[in-house]
Amino acid sequence: MRYVYRFGNYYYGKGRLARADGSARMSAILGGKGAGLAEMTNIGIPVPPGFTISAELCIRFLKTGKYPKRLLQEVKEGMKFIEEVTGRKFGNPDRPLLLSVRSGAKVSMPGMLDSVLNLGLNDETVEGLARLTNNRYFAYDSYRRFIEMFGEVVLQIPREEFEKILEEEKKTLEKIKVPKAIKYQNQISCQEFTENSLQRIIKRYKEKVLQIIKKPFPQDPYEQLWQTISAVFKSWNNERAVEYRRIYNIPENLGTAVNVQAMVFGNMGETSATGVVFSRNPADGSNEPYGEFLINAQGEDIVAGIRTPQPIEWLKATHPKNYAQLLKILKKLERHYRDVQDVEFTIEDNRLWILQSRRAKRTPQAAVKIAYDMHKEGLISKEEAILRISAKEVEALLHPKLEESVKVLPVAKGLPASPGAVSGEVVFNSSKAIKLAKRGKKIILVRTKTSAEDVGGMAHAVGFLTATGGMTSHAAVVARGLGKPCVVGCANLYIDEQAKKALLGSQPIKEGMVITIDGSTGNVYLGALPTKESEFSKEFLAILRWADSIRKLNVRTNADTPKDASLARKFGAEGIGLCRTEHMFFGPKRIQAMREMILAPTPEQRKKALEKILPLQKQDFFEIFKAMDGLPVAIRTLDPPLHEFLPKDEAQIKKLAQSMKLPIDKVKQTISQLQEDNPMLGFRGCRLGIIYPEITEMQARAIFEAACEAIKQGIKVLPEVMVPLVGSEKEFIHQKQIIDRVANLVMAKYQIKVNYLVGTMIEVPRAAVIADKLAKHADFFSLGTNDLTQTVFGYSRDDIGNFLPQYLELKILEHNPFQTVDREGVGSLIKTVIKLARRANPKIKIGVCGEHGGDAESIVFFHQIGIDYVSCSPHRIPTARIAAAQAALSEKQKS
Ligand code: PEP
Ligand code: MG
Repeated sequence: MRYVYRFGNYYYGKGRLARADGSARMSAILGGKGAGLAEMTNIGIPVPPGFTISAELCIRFLKTGKYPKRLLQEVKEGMKFIEEVTGRKFGNPDRPLLLSVRSGAKVSMPGMLDSVLNLGLNDETVEGLARLTNNRYFAYDSYRRFIEMFGEVVLQIPREEFEKILEEEKKTLEKIKVPKAIKYQNQISCQEFTENSLQRIIKRYKEKVLQIIKKPFPQDPYEQLWQTISAVFKSWNNERAVEYRRIYNIPENLGTAVNVQAMVFGNMGETSATGVVFSRNPADGSNEPYGEFLINAQGEDIVAGIRTPQPIEWLKATHPKNYAQLLKILKKLERHYRDVQDVEFTIEDNRLWILQSRRAKRTPQAAVKIAYDMHKEGLISKEEAILRISAKEVEALLHPKLEESVKVLPVAKGLPASPGAVSGEVVFNSSKAIKLAKRGKKIILVRTKTSAEDVGGMAHAVGFLTATGGMTSHAAVVARGLGKPCVVGCANLYIDEQAKKALLGSQPIKEGMVITIDGSTGNVYLGALPTKESEFSKEFLAILRWADSIRKLNVRTNADTPKDASLARKFGAEGIGLCRTEHMFFGPKRIQAMREMILAPTPEQRKKALEKILPLQKQDFFEIFKAMDGLPVAIRTLDPPLHEFLPKDEAQIKKLAQSMKLPIDKVKQTISQLQEDNPMLGFRGCRLGIIYPEITEMQARAIFEAACEAIKQGIKVLPEVMVPLVGSEKEFIHQKQIIDRVANLVMAKYQIKVNYLVGTMIEVPRAAVIADKLAKHADFFSLGTNDLTQTVFGYSRDDIGNFLPQYLELKILEHNPFQTVDREGVGSLIKTVIKLARRANPKIKIGVCGEHGGDAESIVFFHQIGIDYVSCSPHRIPTARIAAAQAALSEKQKS
């Protein structure tokens, strides 16, 4: 076993290294960065020479504090290799070799682990560097930066100690009036200093080091190197890295590799430059290089934003040969990795070096275009193109966004916790949010943080903004669950709830003022900015079609209105999996009839009230059948507890009593009788249709009459009538008999045959356990995973917000089980359902119509266990189509 793996190409008269000691496949040993450097070497990309110390040593060193003896020898050989290649010598005052020593784990942990640059500088080599580069200023500034980095990372000296010195020097300079032109917005920039002041700073830095660690700053380059290697290994266990691994579930035992590499300098004058370039545009995906560079600069100057970089195309004018070479390299890297690359490069004295190439991060729009284009260019297969787009990206494509023409600057910025852009009036407390939303106002709930008591307000607001909290804070979790835009952790937001005002950036905000939040970027704007519904690009439509040809799961929609049904069809729905009929009763005319039906003292009166509802409901069904011409439509009979339809305030109760010519006390008594302690487990679902068979009769009539009339007009209808909350065989038989009887009557009346199915929801555990018995009578099952999750866990669907954030934090729950199906509990029950049902009735169709039907992770599971279709809200259909195809593909890959 070896510990040190060399990489890098060289131009210094010796040709190039035929192969590195490692390759891309060795990321467990070399880390992502080391494996990348090795791979680039192997394909002939000019990479500054260096070596990677194996990540396997990291954990061993952290445990024992020692290195194996052989490492010393291997590092020496590695150094010899770098020296030979570069023609420079480590610690040599004439041609000093400087090193970068960087961390690099197998899984990228950006900014979490430590690195040190310019290593090898000391009081002598700094002079050598000055001569070599003909730039004293640069040499001293590099030394200054090195002491700072080494001081902080290796010697553990707080950064502020150095910053204090810089501040003081800056003040001295101000006294001697440095020209304004080289001062930049109060930032401490090296360019504010003169060579003399840099020398003074270095002297003071060294004194500080001596004072704090009681030892002089190490002048021996090898001592610097070994101390740094140890410090980089140790940084694996620093607090922020441990926290990062916890959040992203990165295994503790991976360890980091250490990359020791020759420094190249982009700041050796006009012949040098540094830059970052993407092989395609990461914002819109167009196939042209996109990036920027600075002449005579170091990489960090681009990041620091002190000088404005130039667009990459301009490099053609200043360094035409290097530019042409860079373009070739970009293409080569892209072809090799078969994906868009994000490349860091440096030109040192007209010589181009590639420092890093990694998979480019991109917007969802770009992800789609790139996947499509790369397939068309023959780089990737259709299957790979589908796998390149995540469900999250598809979701983001569907959220409303700010119009591109908007050029307004944000007043504040927080974390983008839940995507989409929305405008609304600021309200600082939840009860007010509910009140105003009920009056039809669009509200943005603005809180320092949200908690369980805000859930009601959040259900009514269009978006949320909080001053504190991270991506898994209460507000973020609830917002994503609700699919509403949310910005959290907006540090520039100060709220005075008592006074009902706030400060957003420097802008005072009062309740009622309109703001716009963009949950995709974290930006917050004043006023209502124009947003637009997302449109599908031709590339996205093509990928969706490819996905359709691969997936096995059918994708239906949950839709209660003809409008939603048409929208869903546009998104590719293959039918309706759940039409919740209760939603049709909430209009002002209908609710009155519904209330009369509920309060009717006799069955006759109830029938009369139902007669009023029948034509309305029939019309709805007709329109839905029309919108879904040729596709199945599953309509569910009435489900929710009746009290949800009844008035709560005195005036409305009085009005209702008067209209029904009933004594007000009688009405009040019925209302209070219908109040339940536990309504979700109360008088609801098929229990309603059993106690009041007239309701099921009316609904069945509306369904079949609408179906017959649609058929008369040449529409192809495939109605599926679905009974909710069934827990026993007899409950289902009772309802099915009514439905069949009414269907036969209506078909006889119209002299038309309707091909219909009758099935049941499976949403209580008892139904799951007796699935074989139910399957003997049912044509289909639809898994109501919302209620099934509620009843299997015993968690109230409406109250989980009270403890969910803490449960997630404590990892008692891995995720919200109402969002992503709980495979272990609910999932295993569903598997039982499928097994029992198919055994008893091999022809039975089994679908999922709970929220999980639109959740990508759950869809993978449903595919694996052999569900026939999922049904979800219209906006989630594209995600479901892609996720279903991805599930089928990953199964194929495994087999
Ligand atoms: C369910 O319980 O999963 C379901 C789809 O029905 P509802 O959400 O209407 O209770
Ligand atoms: Mg349900």
